[in-house]
Amino acid sequence: MNIELLQKKIREFVQERDWEKYHNPKNLSMALAGEAGELLEIFQWLTPAESSEIKNNPQAYQRTKHEIADILVYLLRLSDKLEIDLEQAVLEKIKLNQEKYPTHLAKGSAKKYTDLK
Ligand SMILES: [Mg+2]
Repeated sequence: MNIELLQKKIREFVQERDWEKYHNPKNLSMALAGEAGELLEIFQWLTPAESSEIKNNPQAYQRTKHEIADILVYLLRLSDKLEIDLEQAVLEKIKLNQEKYPTHLAKGSAKKYTDLK
């Protein structure tokens, strides 16, 4: 994935429509949460097994793909506006999570890091 290329394409899309004035961090984070809600709606009443089989339902699978894309678009846009290097932020967060969830304590456990002993 070329993050900068995607951000450039989204920036152009926004500028062509004169939507820059709406793209502040507050609005973008709310839009991101809204899109996450749309993704959640697809899976809301499915059993865990049904949710794992979403690929077998072409219509639901297509909706899922599009909602995931919507989420990523807002995430890319928000990080672009805030000048956050997404790749670096993700790598930084993985490192922090490795420290919070040491393998010898967290392996096979769904416990929150505060409850690991
Ligand atoms: Mg959507």
